[in-house]
Amino acid sequence: MDYRNDMKIQFPNRSSNEGFARVAVAAFVAQLDVTVEQLSDIKTAVSEAVTNAIVHGYEHMKGYITVECAITDDGVEITVSDSGHGIGDIEKARQPLYTSRPELERSGMGFTVMETFMDEVTVTSALGVGTTVVMKKKLS
Ligand code: ATP
Ligand code: MG
Repeated sequence: MDYRNDMKIQFPNRSSNEGFARVAVAAFVAQLDVTVEQLSDIKTAVSEAVTNAIVHGYEHMKGYITVECAITDDGVEITVSDSGHGIGDIEKARQPLYTSRPELERSGMGFTVMETFMDEVTVTSALGVGTTVVMKKKLS
């Protein structure tokens, strides 16, 4: 059989699941010809996206986070989605140093880190509906 591999995991918004998601994605991506540095980049980006879903998406409520990972023609595509609060102004949220939670000592660099370590980051979100972050990385 000749088809591209993909995977999907779902877990509740417990902070311990950030590490689980990071390692699960790394284990999946490791089947590709990937360098230690590329793997580290992917883990960092997944960690930021999942942490955002836990901290901002589901602040004060329980919910599930979905992480999907698909092998593409030239690398991987990772999707992190939540059904939480959503983002009102995506452009503002993506600005370096912008955080809606300075009291939590957040630095507002999560999206910037994702953009730095991945080749493409797309954010779609709606208030009261949730947020989906799609990150692509070329591995060839
Ligand atoms: P840091 O990641 O440096 O700890 P941060 O999380 O505030 O700080 P970003 O990750 O860049 O910074 O996110 C910027 C802002 O976008 C957040 O402060 C939050 O308001 C909003 N945001 C990001 N992800 C989500 C999400 N999944 N649901 C709701 N809001 C989000
Ligand atoms: Mg963040």
